[in-house]
Amino acid sequence: MAQRLAYRKRNPYNTRSNKVKVVKTPGGKLVYQHVKKIASKPKCGGCEHFLPGIPALRPRQYATVSKPTKTVQRAYGGVYCGNCVRERIVRAFLIEEQKIVKKVVKTTAAAAPKAEKPKKKTAKK
Ligand SMILES: [Zn+2]
Repeated sequence: MAQRLAYRKRNPYNTRSNKVKVVKTPGGKLVYQHVKKIASKPKCGGCEHFLPGIPALRPRQYATVSKPTKTVQRAYGGVYCGNCVRERIVRAFLIEEQKIVKKVVKTTAAAAPKAEKPKKKTAKK
């Protein structure tokens, strides 16, 4: 007959946080060994891809490992993947360029003679 086993902690319910596996002790007895929840892999904040180079640890374990294990040497390393960082940099650059172009267009329009102004209105419509 199979040996009946008892939880070794105070939580008596079969919950997600109270998972066990059966191990045999050196004395030949079967006992429950409480196992921790499986850690989820860290994901990119932008595209939900898993971040390469970052270990999957339980939240409290990240406090015990050193900083270089939790990050990669890049802007937003350990938060965004390389593709997302590149996209953000390009996007920010293009927005800045657009601002400059707008400023230049505004100054040239102000410097240009007034005869051109009605043309612009027709172009808008
Ligand atoms: Zn990403």
